[in-house]
Amino acid sequence: MKKQPVLSVDHLKTYFYIDESKVAKAVDDVTFSVYPGETVALVGESGSGKSITALSIMQLINKPGRIIDGTVLLKDKELLHLKPKQMTKVRGNEIGMIFQEPMTALNPVFTIGNQIIEMIRKHKKLDKKQARKQAIELLMTVGIPRAEEIIDEYPHQLSGGMRQRVMIAIAISCEPILLIADEPTTALDVTIQAQILDLMADMREQYQMSLLLITHDLGVVSEYADHVMVMYGGQIVEEASTKELLKNTKHPYTQGLLQSLPNINKDVDRLGTIKGIVPPAFDFPKGCRFSTRCPFVMDKCKQANPELKEIESEHFVRCFLHEDGGPSNG
Ligand code: ADP
Ligand code: MG
Repeated sequence: MKKQPVLSVDHLKTYFYIDESKVAKAVDDVTFSVYPGETVALVGESGSGKSITALSIMQLINKPGRIIDGTVLLKDKELLHLKPKQMTKVRGNEIGMIFQEPMTALNPVFTIGNQIIEMIRKHKKLDKKQARKQAIELLMTVGIPRAEEIIDEYPHQLSGGMRQRVMIAIAISCEPILLIADEPTTALDVTIQAQILDLMADMREQYQMSLLLITHDLGVVSEYADHVMVMYGGQIVEEASTKELLKNTKHPYTQGLLQSLPNINKDVDRLGTIKGIVPPAFDFPKGCRFSTRCPFVMDKCKQANPELKEIESEHFVRCFLHEDGGPSNG
């Protein structure tokens, strides 16, 4: 039997009220759980609602956006009912965050040390000297060489990869139970990407955290995630264990994402891409949101949006092709 989830997101809806006639349904009825020690991936192309899902969990949605429905449980705590001050405590203390561009998360006018020490002292009763010692240890833990010197440097003096290591150090400084990483390596060189992802995987293990890993790259998912949710048009369209999802891919969108990966299938030497673009969240097509790009589109796909259904044990798909046991019945 599965343990209690660390995070449970239930029927989450976050809409942006752009103007009177325009509502962007950025996150539209999203449900998932993250269990202790698990790495769960949220994957999809740009604009599919991944970041807004993460920001909703963290309660960082600004106007004209609003969480209009759903619950977000961190263990037993309902985050959507917390006062802003209580939520500030949860961020950093119980949930650590890592974003795509560390330069925007780090303050350019303070040294690396200032920022880590401040974070440590916000959550732990340590004097400056003790906190500095701990900050140096943390920098060493995340693989920063010459930590005693780097601690007094400014963010711009570091490379992108080193800055992301600093962000990881800050995120884990308070030993959160959950780490949310939103495209943590997208801005980095390919050679550095794997190092950062490996470091996050190590830290997840060492600190016994759960990891919600947001990425547009199914290759990253296949290497690092235990479980995966594929997002499209603000909704989950396929969900399963990573192994099952890759072996037994059901949704045409997931298949498209897989085909656009290099080297995953040696028989395919050409990069496939999914034709068309993600529809804007204020203008989804009637029916299935993927129907405008789907190579298998049928009439009924243009009429109604299929439900997310469990078609095999713990494998969920939102697609009419798989509703009644396969295409032949469609
Ligand atoms: P992803 O992280 O998957 O690339 P996002 O979660 O950032 O996508 O955004 C999903 C969709 O939500 C966007 O395509 C856009 O339509 C809408 N959206 C996001 N932020 C805003 C905003 N501030 N105002 C209006 N619409 C927004
Ligand atoms: Mg994003």
